[in-house]
Amino acid sequence: MREIFLCKYGEIILKGANRASFEGLLRRELRFRLQRIGKYRVSSGQSVIFVEPAPGFEPDEDTSEQAYKTVMRTFGIIAVARCAEAEKNFDKIRETALTYLSEKLSSIKTFKVETKRADKRFPMRSFEISAELGGALLAAFPNLSVDVHNPDVVVKVEIRDDAAYISAGQEHAAGGMPVGCNGRGMLLLSGGIDSPVAGWMMAKRGVQLNAVYFEAFPYTSIQAREKVIELAKQVSRWSGTIMLHIVSLTEIEEELTKACNEDYFTLLLRRYMMRIAEKLAVSDECGALITGESMGQVASQTMEALAVTDSVVGMPVFRPCIGMDKEEIITVARRVGTFETSILPYEDCCTVFTPKHPKTRPEIPKVCAEEEKIDIESRINAALASAETIKISPFYKNSAE
Ligand code: ATP
Ligand code: MG
Repeated sequence: MREIFLCKYGEIILKGANRASFEGLLRRELRFRLQRIGKYRVSSGQSVIFVEPAPGFEPDEDTSEQAYKTVMRTFGIIAVARCAEAEKNFDKIRETALTYLSEKLSSIKTFKVETKRADKRFPMRSFEISAELGGALLAAFPNLSVDVHNPDVVVKVEIRDDAAYISAGQEHAAGGMPVGCNGRGMLLLSGGIDSPVAGWMMAKRGVQLNAVYFEAFPYTSIQAREKVIELAKQVSRWSGTIMLHIVSLTEIEEELTKACNEDYFTLLLRRYMMRIAEKLAVSDECGALITGESMGQVASQTMEALAVTDSVVGMPVFRPCIGMDKEEIITVARRVGTFETSILPYEDCCTVFTPKHPKTRPEIPKVCAEEEKIDIESRINAALASAETIKISPFYKNSAE
């Protein structure tokens, strides 16, 4: 029996004349992701994408599961039905349903059958198929009864052009838009909870991610760096490959602590980060910066402080977590799979030199006066020269593996 994933489109269904190009992008993305897992065929028709094992390829259960998870993490797909394919005659449909759903149906109490007949030439009407199949399932599974209002499982039969598809319903998938359809953004990725979530949220809206992590070795550790690499890897399961730049801020931090008023320290550092991120963004052809800031969460995230940070860059800065509470951000982090890594207790380059009395209402002229004590350009160029770049994908092996 062949198992097929029927993928339902999210918003791209609304794209009118551009819909075909969005669909093409999504199919390409699925093919790219699945090629590491097995030989799958990706095609579309009748408002769904079909993901099926190519002729001659028979995936085992683990491979099927991995392929299913990959599809579930691909933005642009709103729901996936895991189906068995059957020839288009009722006996075959019944036989397939009895075998394919046997484990599921043995473990539940109530069900109903829903049929969608996209191929109107099929000789039985939708309600007849539902009633006949419902009767056959009741006879085969004595534990079952029908509940049309609130069933444990909805058995779905879809009669399409080439075959019939039987599933135990569909699962809500990643939603959003295909990655790459809305440009590329440079994510400032720290080891915290918020920035991986921010990156994921923009990727969900079709933005391809590049990332930059600032470290201050030896004040920050190798473990802190590996934690960020692990976070990027987890986000890349959704966003696809991420080019991650690692930039050293050690010299800048040391100079700031020597030359500048401590109260401005975090803000000055954040301005450096933004300038360096923007330069990397320009050379990587990114159209925006992305950060994990949330209104008022810490001193450097007041409205005034954010204005001070933004004023050094010309690019738009997207902060998708800006209106979210920490609890809400954590809920998303759990869904993305980054939360457990984010809470590992490694230091960040912002936290090793935290001022005791950070300015929450900074004024730009005063910040600039502090900044003039340092030669900004040469510092930025030295930091950029130190940059290392790693291509992160879900298959990236870090040194511990
Ligand atoms: P997070 O939980 O993502 O670390 P945070 O609430 O701790 O965020 P800050 O440390 O003030 O906030 O940082 C705000 C944002 O600045 C982060 O969300 C991230 O986008 C960026 N940022 C902070 N530190 C770094 C770093 N070391 N490298 C790259 N970006 C950073
Ligand atoms: Mg942080």
